Amino acid sequence: MLEVLRSPAPGQRFRCALFDFDGTVSLIREGWQNVMVPYFLEVLLAADPAAEKDEAEREVRGFVDALTGKQTIYQCMALCEAVSKRGGKPLTPGAYKAEYLRRLALKTADRKTALASGEKQPEELSVKGSLPFLRRLTDLGVACYLASGTDEADVKNEAALLGADRFFRGGIFGARDDLTDCSKEAVIASLLDSGEIAPASLLGFGDGFVEISLVHEAGGYAVGVATDEKRGGIDEAKRERLIGAGADAIIPDFSESEPLLRLLGLL
Ligand SMILES: [Mg+2]
Repeated sequence: MLEVLRSPAPGQRFRCALFDFDGTVSLIREGWQNVMVPYFLEVLLAADPAAEKDEAEREVRGFVDALTGKQTIYQCMALCEAVSKRGGKPLTPGAYKAEYLRRLALKTADRKTALASGEKQPEELSVKGSLPFLRRLTDLGVACYLASGTDEADVKNEAALLGADRFFRGGIFGARDDLTDCSKEAVIASLLDSGEIAPASLLGFGDGFVEISLVHEAGGYAVGVATDEKRGGIDEAKRERLIGAGADAIIPDFSESEPLLRLLGLL
């Protein structure tokens, strides 16, 4: 069900849309939190064996959630700080990132192979309705951009596996090696700085705090995708986080596109 917190200004014409990838379009990395949180917790407890486990887990979940949508390296930098704060000697953020990605790859490799071989269809590993919705937006003349905190080569590869790459005529942008510049911020800035796009004609779709607050602060219209990533309903915690970030509307997924397109004045 579409939840509207603020309607777009009457007559507003949206011309371009920024999409987050993981959890907004792709479910290839679904469950990444269940890889990152236990691993980070393991690191934190090794640094501070006397720590109370529940409290340490709350701390880890807190910074992982707050930084969702930024490049992975930021979550690893926060882990370094947490380790130091507890009197431990952290590895580099890059070392934590490499180990996290190694563990995550074990989980995602089967999904990618299944997509590549045709054993699984893109619809099975994407947020419900996202691919038809992207096609629809593109047909309606909205330029779509993909901006992700995941490494750029992986985003491009995974978007192609889902057949989603062709919809992002504006481009596909991800994290670059050893760059901590926010790819999402950079994409929004370059769109607005070019002068071709007025802030009010920018749409944003995302399941993370970062992209929603960036679009909101830029003056665009932000749609929070509070999917529970199991192709079912709303994740209540995500919904609240997205509203806190400035989401103008909340959807569980893209399966009911008509009311959403009508709200956006595109129909
Ligand atoms: Mg996401």
